[in-house]
Amino acid sequence: MVSEGEAENGTVADAPLNNIYKAHPELVLQLRGQVFFDMLQEGHIAQAQLYYQGSIQALYPDGTDTGSLFVDKMLMRIIRQMARTGLPPGGQHAFANGEKTRQRVKDYLKVYFPAYRPQLRQGTSKVWEFGETNGAITHCLVCHKDFRGFDLRKLRYHLIALGGGRQGKCQGVTPYTGGRLAWILADEGYNPDGSRPGQQQPPNDNDGNGGGGGAADGDDGEGADGDGGAAAAAATDA
Ligand SMILES: [Zn+2]
Repeated sequence: MVSEGEAENGTVADAPLNNIYKAHPELVLQLRGQVFFDMLQEGHIAQAQLYYQGSIQALYPDGTDTGSLFVDKMLMRIIRQMARTGLPPGGQHAFANGEKTRQRVKDYLKVYFPAYRPQLRQGTSKVWEFGETNGAITHCLVCHKDFRGFDLRKLRYHLIALGGGRQGKCQGVTPYTGGRLAWILADEGYNPDGSRPGQQQPPNDNDGNGGGGGAADGDDGEGADGDGGAAAAAATDA
């Protein structure tokens, strides 16, 4: 049981919850990564290098072993930028926009801290704890990407991260979010694969309605630093 305001779990399954650096490396790196990039963008190169060494590298000295692949990729973006200090931040990287970082921190709190969990109307599927819809755009609170034309079924398949990438697998799924989703699916009468009992397979997504949905999640942040071109584009013209 957790008290009001405490995390129910973190990004890293077996990490002690009272150690924010180990249990919530995504939260730590969102916030510290933004500070680091802000220093670079303001031209405070030496200060940024010191900050990186003392506040990021000291916590995660072996580079990419935060315990979460999703967070490791975020850390890699910071490390790559550290290697380029003195050069302007390249491309559309994750920390270019402080507003985006604030959004991601808010997303994180909603997913991992029950006190901030979205309050859903009665009768609404709890799967929507993980996604927020604004007009035609659904924002995944787990991987922070935007998708066009997501209904409940598509969000469900995205989060289950099964099905050969039909809806684009959610890259941010952790043991905690997977476990909570499994509980929700069982509670709401779905099979673990997201289908309804009696259905053989999840229906193929050949209804022509997928447009932005599946395609938007094509990248995993390696080359392009992050924000899925199609997904970002879908969001900006919303
Ligand atoms: Zn996602």
